[in-house]
Amino acid sequence: MGTEREIRVRFAPSPTGALHIGGGHTALFNWLWARHKGGRFVLRIEDTDRERSTQAYEETIMSGMRWLGLDWDEGPDVGGVYGPYRQSERLNLYRENAERLVREDKAYREGEAIIFRVLPGEDLSFDDVVYGRIEVASDGLREKGSDELKDIVLIKSDGMPTYNYAVVVDDHLMNISHVIRGEDHISNTPKQILLYHALGWELPAFAHLPMILGKDKKKLSKRHGATSVYEFRDMGYMPDSVFNFLAILGWSPGDDREIFSRAEAVELFELSRVVRKPSVFDPDKLNFINQEHLKRLDPMTRLEMVRPFWQELGLPIASHDDAWLADALTLMGGRGKTAKELAGFSDYFVSFEPVKARYTPEFSEEEKADLKDFFTKLLAVPDWTDSALEAQAREWVAQRGVKMKDYAMTLRFALTGMKVSPGIFEVAQHLGRDETRRRLAHYGLI
Ligand code: GLU
Repeated sequence: MGTEREIRVRFAPSPTGALHIGGGHTALFNWLWARHKGGRFVLRIEDTDRERSTQAYEETIMSGMRWLGLDWDEGPDVGGVYGPYRQSERLNLYRENAERLVREDKAYREGEAIIFRVLPGEDLSFDDVVYGRIEVASDGLREKGSDELKDIVLIKSDGMPTYNYAVVVDDHLMNISHVIRGEDHISNTPKQILLYHALGWELPAFAHLPMILGKDKKKLSKRHGATSVYEFRDMGYMPDSVFNFLAILGWSPGDDREIFSRAEAVELFELSRVVRKPSVFDPDKLNFINQEHLKRLDPMTRLEMVRPFWQELGLPIASHDDAWLADALTLMGGRGKTAKELAGFSDYFVSFEPVKARYTPEFSEEEKADLKDFFTKLLAVPDWTDSALEAQAREWVAQRGVKMKDYAMTLRFALTGMKVSPGIFEVAQHLGRDETRRRLAHYGLI
């Protein structure tokens, strides 16, 4: 056996829109395969649709890929020995090879256009890495409802190559070993194989990725909510989570592990473990994954994720030091599916104002007298620690034969304005004795 072919894969977006979930998914699987195999990941811009392609979309796609952490080894910005990496800059290569096919009588001219002649009887079957054996013959390339074999346009009369032709020329000249792309391209593959045969070129391996559906089992679209990679960023999802989420759409490491880092995904990824059936884009799963990643962040990084969302809520972050704010988020113990949600759940650490806006109790004089006694003794504990506070509270309720829950709940509301919070004595400890007193005093509870 000779040495194994160098692994080279490519992501080939058309710059006619932002980077969507489907494109991000395809790019990610190519990237994972390249990184897993120590190969090269190429970015090629398929901008032959001159009307719809723009430089701005090319840039958004690239910055979306960067946000996801998908770096490329060759591409229009970084260059590489197989460039240029924009199809609009490769027109001479498409023309040269088409002219050769005309000379060999495999293609003919029709005005300015060059057209490939499809002959019957050619076996175009291939072994897809994901879908297995796909049997097709050139006889199948007929026009719908007609017996005529349909010839393939290589170069249109405006001088631009067609997708099926340009992709073959580029994948060959760029020495691509694996074509990994969406399942919607399976039907194009036989035509491309026919052109590989005619040009006398070795076939790459083909791996088609299953489609991504919405929860209603329809093809993912705008109707299902956010679909562009940037929309997820703005909603408070982290790149590592979107990366993790996309990685398990149609692939799993073989056990039921769902949470992993980039490095773990690179290590575990196997093209042969991509499943054939469509995968479902489940926003609850994304939330779960994001929450798990948020929990695993180190406190200072978590603070940096949450800070812009506290700012958005107009909270006075600058009046606390960073370490104290980071500790407050640690106390939240994994609450919050997104950084945005976590910011909302923990607003009371940053300021008393949102608490006042949420909680306006009315106590009877009798209730007040009782609560005042409880809180005055609580505020007098010698050590301001959660365990000392809890011990004092337990002793007080035991003496009166009343329920701890009722008093702890009042404390929770007065400090947080919320029904749910971390251990309330831990919250009190973190806020400090003075701030706790100030909040209780506001409600007339001391
Ligand atoms: N530009 C094509 C697309 O966006 C690329 C398909 C391929 O990877 O061959 O679908």
